[in-house]
Amino acid sequence: MDHFDYVDGAMQVEQVPMAAIADAVGTPVYVYSTATLTRHVGVFRDALGSLDNPLIAFAVKANPNAAVLATLAKLGLGADVVSGGELLRAIAAGIPADRIVFSGVGKTAEEMRLALTHGIFQFNLESEPEAEMLSEVALSMGKRAPVAYRINPDVDAGTHAKISTGKSENKFGIPYARALESYAAARDLPGLDVQGVAVHIGSQLTDLAPLEAAFTKVGALIAALRDAGHDIRTADLGGGLGVPYDPALPEPPSPAAYGDMVCRVTQDWPVRLMFEPGRVIVGNAGALLSRVVRVKQGAKAPFVIVDAAMNDLLRPSLYDAWHDIRAVTPAGQRAAANVVGPVCETGDTFAMGRDMDVVAAGDLVAFMTAGAYGATMAGTYNSRPLAPEVLVSGDKWAVVRARPPIEALIAGDSIPDWLAD
Ligand SMILES: *Cc1c(COP(=O)(O)O)cnc(C)c1O
Repeated sequence: MDHFDYVDGAMQVEQVPMAAIADAVGTPVYVYSTATLTRHVGVFRDALGSLDNPLIAFAVKANPNAAVLATLAKLGLGADVVSGGELLRAIAAGIPADRIVFSGVGKTAEEMRLALTHGIFQFNLESEPEAEMLSEVALSMGKRAPVAYRINPDVDAGTHAKISTGKSENKFGIPYARALESYAAARDLPGLDVQGVAVHIGSQLTDLAPLEAAFTKVGALIAALRDAGHDIRTADLGGGLGVPYDPALPEPPSPAAYGDMVCRVTQDWPVRLMFEPGRVIVGNAGALLSRVVRVKQGAKAPFVIVDAAMNDLLRPSLYDAWHDIRAVTPAGQRAAANVVGPVCETGDTFAMGRDMDVVAAGDLVAFMTAGAYGATMAGTYNSRPLAPEVLVSGDKWAVVRARPPIEALIAGDSIPDWLAD
């Protein structure tokens, strides 16, 4: 559920007309709803209501905007970060270090030092060489790093190949079959405090079965590790719950159904549970607002050329992702159209032959469910400045990242002496 609704024939976000934002800030622009963020945090937390003090660490990579993070910090969420930059963003937004988890296969010694300096809650290690490096870095600082190993459970998440992470051929985690050996080696590293087990099998999961299969394996591993004398106190179950993109498809499992499954599978685990939701918190809380530049005749359906492009919203060209595209003020008719951006790539296509509101040059359209993996994946290909971001709360709204002037993009490069006259 979100707070983008039609009022008197025009789309509003909470109490603010989308057209007012477009007129003031220009297009394309990302628009986020505080009420939707708040609602999703509440729904996720309620779903885990029967657990004792779970740590809900928002996956910052889904939406790292400072105002979004500050909103989530005020709601009590922690952060799952995958770089030193995300760590500093989370801390700057007010997320306490003791609610921060550091994931990722390529943490550098410098990033480890930064996270140890801040005193984060847990490092999720993804390989034995990484464990050795972290131990050395921690010892050099006179510290012990709290760690979990991320297990690769070798389950197929049933999601798009580019966002599946829990198969044995994926780069993530340590092999399940070798986990006991890896933990034994980690216990002998003096700079580590081995406290947990972690798993994350992929994103946009629309079925609970692979998650349950992975969690069941984690439970068995926790029991085996405790039998082997490891003091396992945390289990991080990752993120991955899907959100509805296409209203014609069955809805993905609800957070409540996910929570019921988690409670059932983990009821005997003697650990604190941790979660790393990203998309399910922010996905439906954002839309990309764009204006139709012109409509061009096509072989089968007209091309609706909008001023947003693949550099602003990469998901369709990267993952064949489907975003609902709605007119901000629908005229009533629908027809098939191809929606494309201005970038010089055939991949700059948001939809082909889509049955949608009929729109004309100058009309506003909204790409729905663009709050996760939207602005954060944007780039400046074709020398297009990053789209600005706006946060709405009730009848208030604010630009939370301004559109940079093209001059700033040009000034970012420099011309060496030998080329300058
Ligand atoms: C991306 C990621 C998440 C968040 O995934 P969602 O599908 O957005 O919930 C959580 N944990 C890790 C380790 C990730 O890489």
